[in-house]
Amino acid sequence: MREIIYFDNNATTRPEPEVVDAMARLLRDGYGNPSSVHQFGQAARYQVECAREQVAALVGASAKEIVFTSGGTESINLAIAGYLRAHPKRRRLVTTAVEHSAVLRMATQLEANGYVIEHVGVDGDGQIDQAHWEAALTEDTAFASIICANNETGVVWDVASLAAVARDRGIPVHVDAVQAAGKLDINMAQWPVDLLSISAHKLHGPKGAGALYVRRRTRLAPLLVGGSQERDLRGGTENVAGIVGMGLACEMAGSHMARHRESVGALRDKLERGILNATPFAHVIGGGERVYNTTNIGFEGLEAEAILLLLSEAGVCASSGSACSSGSLEPSHVVTAMNVDPRIAHGAIRFSLSRFNTADEVDAVVEMMPGLLAKLTALSPR
Ligand code: PLP
Repeated sequence: MREIIYFDNNATTRPEPEVVDAMARLLRDGYGNPSSVHQFGQAARYQVECAREQVAALVGASAKEIVFTSGGTESINLAIAGYLRAHPKRRRLVTTAVEHSAVLRMATQLEANGYVIEHVGVDGDGQIDQAHWEAALTEDTAFASIICANNETGVVWDVASLAAVARDRGIPVHVDAVQAAGKLDINMAQWPVDLLSISAHKLHGPKGAGALYVRRRTRLAPLLVGGSQERDLRGGTENVAGIVGMGLACEMAGSHMARHRESVGALRDKLERGILNATPFAHVIGGGERVYNTTNIGFEGLEAEAILLLLSEAGVCASSGSACSSGSLEPSHVVTAMNVDPRIAHGAIRFSLSRFNTADEVDAVVEMMPGLLAKLTALSPR
C-alpha cells in the first residue's frame, strides 16, 4: 500500500506499537480465561484488573467503577437502556441534537416504546443552548445523556457544569466521552456525572474494546446476560487482549496528554490556517471551544463527497458527516442543528489529526488543496 496521510483520527486511530505488541503477546502466550481458577486463567485475570486500574486512572475514577464493553456504542447502550430498564417508573429522556448515532438511535428506539425524548438544540458555534437544557430537565425526567467532545466538529462542552444542573434536580447524567477521553482532562471524582462512555480505538488502542464508568451505587440492568463477568453487568468471556491493549493505550494517552495537546494542536492550527489563507470560500464550522485535533471546514458551494474522493486519490484520508438520505447527500445532523448555511454545510470536511501526523503531511495537504479545489470549481462553478 502506498503512503497515506491519515487525517481521520476521529473515525479511528492507529494503535500505539506498544499496544500491538502487548496484545500479540497476550493472544499468543496469555490466552487463559480470566474466570478459570487455575494459575493460567488467574494470570489473565490479573492482566484484566491491571487494565481496569489504567482505564480508571485516565478518567479519575476507581477501578471498581469501570465496566469493560466492546466499545463506545455498547457502553452508550448499556448506560442508557441499562439505566432505564433498572428504573422503569419515569419515561422521559433528555439528550441533544448533536449526539452520536449510538445515542440518537437508542433515543428513537425508546420513543417507539413510549418514552418521551427531548433533544436540546445548539447555537451556530455548536454550543449547547443552556436555557433549553435547564428547561428540559423537568422533574419527571428519568435520565439525561450528553456528548463531551463532538465527533464531527470537535466542539467541547462544559459537561461538568451541565451535569451539575441535572444533579441538583436528582437526574442522573451519562456523558459520551468517546472523543474526549485521552485528549481532555476528565475527573470522575469531581464531575457530577453518573455514567461515562469511552472507546479504545479512538485513543490509539484496539477496536472492539471500550469501557463504561458506572458511579458507585448506580443501578443498571445488564443488556448482555450470560456469565457473571463484569460484576454481572456484562456477561461474556472478557476480550482480554483488547482490554489489555485499552489499558495500555489509556495509560499512554494520560501520560502524554499535555505534550500531544501542544504538538497536535499546533499541527491542526497550521493546517486550518493554511487552508483558510489559500481558500476564500472555506469556513471553519464550530471554531470556538474545541478539542485540539479536529477542524471541520466547509467549502462553500462544493460537495464534500467530491472533495473527499479527490483527497482519497491523492492519498489523504479525511471524512464528512454527510449521510445519503432519499438519494441525495444531506449535510449531517450536527451541522444542520448548528444552522450552518446549506452551501457551506454541503461542503463540510472533517480533518482530525493525531500524534502520528507530521508537519510535512500538513504542508503537503495545504499545498495540494488549491489545485484540488480548482478542479471541482471548474467542473461546477460556484
Ligand atoms: N460516540 C462518539 C462521539 C463517537 O465518535 C463514536 C465513534 O465514532 C462512538 C460514540 C461509538 O464508538 P465505537 O466506534 O467504539 O462503537
